[in-house]
Amino acid sequence: MSIDSVQDGVVVSMDYTLHVDGELLDSSDGQGPLQFLVGYGNIIPGLEDEMMGMKIGDSKKVVVQPVDGYGEFDESAFMDVPRDQFPKDMKFEEGSELTVRDNEDNVRMARVDRIDGDMVTLNFNHPLAGDVLHFYVKIVKLREPNEEELAHGHVHEEGHHHH
Ligand code: ZN
Repeated sequence: MSIDSVQDGVVVSMDYTLHVDGELLDSSDGQGPLQFLVGYGNIIPGLEDEMMGMKIGDSKKVVVQPVDGYGEFDESAFMDVPRDQFPKDMKFEEGSELTVRDNEDNVRMARVDRIDGDMVTLNFNHPLAGDVLHFYVKIVKLREPNEEELAHGHVHEEGHHHH
């Protein structure tokens, strides 16, 4: 089978930049193309959908609204946690990113929004929630995944075998 366009089950290598409010936030520059397996939720849906059918060498600007990106900013996604609920030796300040375990034992990312006396307010919104994402993508390479990648639903980069 020869693969000539972006479609489900294909490993895409792409160069990209991401701008939010005119500011460069992320790019493949210097770290090499990003590889991902299409159709397994490895990148945000709003970007993946727009890349379907692109061929090697094709480039495109894609604007992704929050609903198809990292979600709308959720005013209720904040939680007040007393300082003594955190390990004593845990150091953090406003703006710090933490992993916390919720009541259902899920590990979640949060940022310290505010520290007010003994009360710590955590923000569970994704850092890019509510942001309109401006991507520029260029398809560098397309290939078939190997069996293991397909079974895991993500790319294993050479020399970086995990689990
Ligand atoms: Zn894996």
